[in-house]
Amino acid sequence: MPPYALVRSRKRRTLCLQINPSGAMRLLVPAATQQADIEAFLKAKARWIERTLKRLNEAPRVPVFADGLSLRYLDETLQLRLCYRSGTPEVRRDGELLRVAAANEVQARGALEFWYREAARHHALARIIHYAPLVGRAPKRIRIAGQKTRWGSCSPHGTISLNWRLMLVPADLFDYVIAHELCHLIAPHHRTPFWREMGRVMPDYETRRLRLRESGTRLSL
Ligand SMILES: [Zn+2]
Repeated sequence: MPPYALVRSRKRRTLCLQINPSGAMRLLVPAATQQADIEAFLKAKARWIERTLKRLNEAPRVPVFADGLSLRYLDETLQLRLCYRSGTPEVRRDGELLRVAAANEVQARGALEFWYREAARHHALARIIHYAPLVGRAPKRIRIAGQKTRWGSCSPHGTISLNWRLMLVPADLFDYVIAHELCHLIAPHHRTPFWREMGRVMPDYETRRLRLRESGTRLSL
């Protein structure tokens, strides 16, 4: 077992293991935890620890899903506080920290994506309330999607779908997609009347469109 720092806390009720991007391990445990329980916990996590440390060594430049990872959130940058423990996954924002607690990486990523989806829904709603009067149309339904290849779409029945990954780009680019899909409620194509509407609603849409296209390649959590 690689070396780790043991932190006992009277407030803590579960065991929690953290590995930061430099490979340092910290084990947070309730104050009265027995050494045998600590060893059993570490044994259960041994494969994950080995895999994570190996990946940190192999690809130090590639962001690894580990404690301390920077996460984009519109115009802000949040820092991932990742903690592995048993029980229901939890995500909680605490200032600039995004605290994720889950049993393993798959669950942690899932919980994080769910949290981002909810945030996207909230933000999209607020921005649609802002832009719908400017466009003069409102969607019938808003759907949060997770497509890898598109930011948004607008169905003939008035459903606007938005990619939750829009939370990973600056807020003014999220706005561009909102305006774009709302304008499709007037013009369901990309011909001149559509771009005329876009120019009316968002005079600088062209630069935002190009910036959004460039940020598309860096999209992952
Ligand atoms: Zn379009």
